[in-house]
Amino acid sequence: MSPSISPSIPPADVGDLRQHVAGPVLTPQDDGYETETAAYNLATPIRPDVVVGAQDADDVAAAVAWAAAHHVPLGVQATGHGADVPMQGGLLISTARLQECTVDPQSRTARVGAGVRWRSVLEASVPHGLVGLSGSTTDVGVVGYTLGGGLPVLGRTFGFAADHVRSFEVVTPDGRRRAVDAAHEPELFGLLRGGKGNLGVVTAMEFELLPLDGLYGGAVIYPGAHAREVLTAWSRWTADLPESVSTSIALLRLPAMDIVPEPLRDRFVVHLRYACTAPAEEAERLLAPMRALPDPVMDTVGPMSYRDVDAIHMDPPVPIPYRETGRLLEDVDDDAVDALLAQAGPDADCPLALIEIRLLGGALSRAAEGTTDLVAGRDGRYVIGLVGLTVPPHGDRVPAAIEDVLTALGGHVSERTLVNFLGSVDGDEAFSRAWSSDAGSRLRAAKDAYDPENLLRFQHAVRP
Ligand SMILES: Cc1cc2nc3c(=O)[nH]c(=O)nc-3n(C[C@H](O)[C@H](O)[C@H](O)COP(=O)(O)OP(=O)(O)OC[C@H]3O[C@@H](n4cnc5c(N)ncnc54)[C@H](O)[C@@H]3O)c2cc1C
Repeated sequence: MSPSISPSIPPADVGDLRQHVAGPVLTPQDDGYETETAAYNLATPIRPDVVVGAQDADDVAAAVAWAAAHHVPLGVQATGHGADVPMQGGLLISTARLQECTVDPQSRTARVGAGVRWRSVLEASVPHGLVGLSGSTTDVGVVGYTLGGGLPVLGRTFGFAADHVRSFEVVTPDGRRRAVDAAHEPELFGLLRGGKGNLGVVTAMEFELLPLDGLYGGAVIYPGAHAREVLTAWSRWTADLPESVSTSIALLRLPAMDIVPEPLRDRFVVHLRYACTAPAEEAERLLAPMRALPDPVMDTVGPMSYRDVDAIHMDPPVPIPYRETGRLLEDVDDDAVDALLAQAGPDADCPLALIEIRLLGGALSRAAEGTTDLVAGRDGRYVIGLVGLTVPPHGDRVPAAIEDVLTALGGHVSERTLVNFLGSVDGDEAFSRAWSSDAGSRLRAAKDAYDPENLLRFQHAVRP
């Protein structure tokens, strides 16, 4: 913590903050503090000195200006899906009440407040045959996800979510409200797309919707005992898939919990995720090599509405305690499959609930023409994500198990990652992993300019 930042906040200053915002201003002693600070990741303590439940953009601007005037470090939370690093002290701005969500079918755009989850966008857009580029669960916040690049379920077809942003309304750490797009402050507009929450608090965002009248997708689940055969087949199959197909494969050790569908409860399985925008007949033909593998436990793949997109990845629908991290992966050849299965295959005593490998490439590798951004992972072939539940009896083994898998993968795994897949790491480490050296230098220079006091320092923030 820089010496100019006060370690805790005098009550009189909190009183001053209450004068300036309309929403609730709560300290740990106040009723409602726990609800206001609650995150999706139950393993991460989020304990600010004070939390503001912003009612509108004016509240956000007032809270940021107050933090700047009082030299108080500042965090922002919408849903807590990115709460990977503990927050102790400072001011947290909760954007959960910023729920504006409008869809314009004519211009094929949506405008959202900073607290909106993907689910709300799809409810408004799918009836018009339009979709936004959500990730594996529509429970995630649109703005936080997109600031981190946003790797969508349909990423290989349409690119990163950040590629489709039209404009942001943002409060920078000097308390100024700015409207930025390709024509107004284009440099800041580019830095926000992939720069995560480093340079300001976004209050609203406008982005393009894509025309899509449904897709062909779902899950095929195989017995864990067949992991080698399935992983090897997936690796060969993904070598030359068209851009209409986005897919991932996951080793799942599912707990005996009610949130897990009955046939999968307390089992080790391999989960193929398939999302194809080609016509159904073609999409079915493309999947055939994976469907030819023996003894699937479950096969839900077929024509579906994008509104049901969560059924493809089947992420936990309720908050859970976990530790996670992710890295770009160079390849999934036989050697990589051997290394992975030695650590996490059917015969391994592995405490990780999920190890997922997503295929990148296609439209994800192309930046929107004539733009600059900080989106990480355009050059990646795959990204691997590792998640362990931090509950007994295996929770304390999770951090070492994550490291063991990454170490075993050796040269197959990159030092780099996607910003949204950084997970439970500390700031400096995060900085070097999430952005290339060129992108990192640009972000650090921008941090010097927009946030010289390093007010925005929580979660995956770079240091000036
Ligand atoms: C179950 C699950 C599935 C996921 N699937 C995907 C996926 O498929 N693809 C993908 O790319 N990512 C995925 N993620 C990662 C997710 O996109 C990031 O964690 C993202 O930051 C979540 O945003 P949020 O606003 O919901 O979370 P929050 O925890 O509320 O916010 C996370 C961070 O985003 C930034 N932020 C949020 N709102 C603002 C704002 N208004 N202004 C400035 N900064 C802000 C801040 O740095 C904040 O700390 C997943 C995460 C989980 C837990």
